[in-house]
Amino acid sequence: MTPLLQVRELRKAFGGVHAVEGVSFELGAGELLAMIGPNGAGKSTCFNMINGQLAPDAGSVLLDGREIAGRPPREIWQLGVGRTFQVAATWASMTVVENVQMALLSHHGALFRFWRRAASQHRDAALELLAAVGLRDRADEPCSTLAYGDVKTVELAIALANRPSLLLMDEPTAGMAPQERAALMQLTRGLVKERGIGVLFTEHSMDVVFAHADRIMVLARGRLIAQGAPALIRDDPKVREVYLGSGRLAHAGAAPGPVANAIVDAAGGRS
Ligand code: ADP
Ligand code: MG
Repeated sequence: MTPLLQVRELRKAFGGVHAVEGVSFELGAGELLAMIGPNGAGKSTCFNMINGQLAPDAGSVLLDGREIAGRPPREIWQLGVGRTFQVAATWASMTVVENVQMALLSHHGALFRFWRRAASQHRDAALELLAAVGLRDRADEPCSTLAYGDVKTVELAIALANRPSLLLMDEPTAGMAPQERAALMQLTRGLVKERGIGVLFTEHSMDVVFAHADRIMVLARGRLIAQGAPALIRDDPKVREVYLGSGRLAHAGAAPGPVANAIVDAAGGRS
């Protein structure tokens, strides 16, 4: 069976900076794959070549066997690649359910100027999505009244409205408290497993990565230095080396909270 996503020898340089230098990996439907690595390793550059924000210098990105590298973001989105943003991107003045309705309208190809007429459309589908992410009872509140963690959850519902086959989450939990991070990834995991969606995500909390990823890739200076099941990555000497050679990665997944988070902070903090 063809994997959902096949990335082959992806490369991107910015002037003299080789941000991504020959990255190859595969991702299956229903799989949660984490890409971790220190600040500047090339994670966002990889994500942006897959979602179309950046055209690769070389390499190939196959979605269901179809080449998408270098296509415009809108086209890639239409082919089923959804994404969430590092900074929450909802319309504060609209209600929670309207934000999701907008996404559904967009998925169905309606034009923005028909929004008023179409406002009543897709309400049931939007409410269903909100129920799936646990925000059904907040549906008619303006997004501006939600706590940050809830806004990020609305974003997840918005991403799902497009019925993606692949979901790219570049630091979906940035700015969230540790407990909120775990809850959002737990929710994401349940929803994508149910729907058979493949997820590629980055995340700074090693606790969250080790608890929620099926597989982990480690990127350093534009190259993959390891990939495998969390238990293998935890014990990989090259990976420990990258995380300051301290061996503290061994605690990730075992010790909750500050200890594992400290590894990441020490390794370069948030990007
Ligand atoms: P990460 O997401 O892992 O922190 P990035 O992909 O953002 O890493 O960055 C990888 C490298 O590419 C870094 O050295 C960064 O400074 C550089 N870089 C990223 N985007 C640009 C850009 N638009 N222009 C110039 N250099 C960039
Ligand atoms: Mg980044």
